Amino acid sequence: MTTKILNKERVEFQKKLKEGEVHGFHSVFEMCSCGHFGGNSPDSHNGHEPNIQKGHGKCKLCDCNWFTWVGFCNAKGEIVE
Ligand SMILES: [Zn+2]
Ligand SMILES: [Zn+2]
Repeated sequence: MTTKILNKERVEFQKKLKEGEVHGFHSVFEMCSCGHFGGNSPDSHNGHEPNIQKGHGKCKLCDCNWFTWVGFCNAKGEIVE
């Protein structure tokens, strides 16, 4: 059951990601060591659940347990300076 719900969420999330790419966001994106957005990334892209701070909990897209900041990135997930 849980897995089923998770998969549905994942599909929805990936759909949102695609939409985000199409529309283009001009916000700050923050990348986690797991390769998914977290931290202050826009809700539409943020794969990490809130924990103490926004986007600092566990990742909804993989088994990453904690947001580990690796850098700022663009909407495609490419690290920028
Ligand atoms: Zn992560
Ligand atoms: Zn992840």
